[in-house]
Amino acid sequence: MDTNTGNIIWVNGRFIHEPEGFITPATHGLHYGTGLFEGIRTHRQVNGGWKIFRLKDHLMRFHDSARQLGLEIPYSPDELAVACEELLDQSGLQDAYLRPIAFTDCHFQHMAKATAEAKVVLMAIPFSSQPRGMCVPVGTAIVSEYRRASANVPFHRAKLTGHYSLISIAASEARSRGCNQALFLDERDRLCEALTDNVFLVVNGQVITPSDSAPILKGITRGTVIDLLARENVHVIERDVSLAEVYNAEEIFTTSTAGGVKSLIALDGQLIGTGAPGAITQLASSLYEDCVGGVIEH
Ligand code: PMP
Repeated sequence: MDTNTGNIIWVNGRFIHEPEGFITPATHGLHYGTGLFEGIRTHRQVNGGWKIFRLKDHLMRFHDSARQLGLEIPYSPDELAVACEELLDQSGLQDAYLRPIAFTDCHFQHMAKATAEAKVVLMAIPFSSQPRGMCVPVGTAIVSEYRRASANVPFHRAKLTGHYSLISIAASEARSRGCNQALFLDERDRLCEALTDNVFLVVNGQVITPSDSAPILKGITRGTVIDLLARENVHVIERDVSLAEVYNAEEIFTTSTAGGVKSLIALDGQLIGTGAPGAITQLASSLYEDCVGGVIEH
């Protein structure tokens, strides 16, 4: 192992201390957004210890994103799963966020990638999970002025670095308006998703979420929450969601690996429902917490 003092990372099969100047500024992936990544989390288990939630599903999506970008990941999801577990061990982290990234690291002069083989790096950073049984976290949102392009929908299902320049701009837009979340519409004013979260609404007592024919990332948390609610006989309808429905929703909540289930309590300065997490949001949140914490099975 390298003796530099940086964080331990996994690079193409080796654990190293991140060396200074490790990735050249000429990297194709940096210039042209030819990269893809995942966000994965550990959760404290009710019986003690910590466990990575749906690791294999994240790593399958990692591979799928690469395929859509025409990149090859030279490690199977199983090999990467072993490496993720070992990275946590070597880093001494329990409450952690894992960030696998793959990118084209040929020189930027070659606009067409010189190689299909991606460089793969796994990072693990400390995370501060909120203790179980706390109130549902709340946030306030704007409807972003920026639209999601729907022209090439399947491409959005890939978690590509290039998508995140728009998301980052919209995050700043939200912050400049005193909010921490933004909702994206497509060019036909239909709801897509939030910054790095999927969105659920309660409208006339029904739970709805944009279907994956909209330009959204098909979130792993989204799928888990749909399944968990169905077991309680709350059936989520996946369909187009209009802007009018967004403004008139009784409840809105978001889902993501990093954020879990979060309640939106205000949109563009107007309270949503009573301005507090509603009954369905609370149900989704507690089911999700129980699931990631090993109280109930996925
Ligand atoms: N949409 C976007 C754009 C995201 O970056 C994320 C976070 N990965 C999500 C939705 C939620 O996906 P997941 O539940 O798999 O974290």
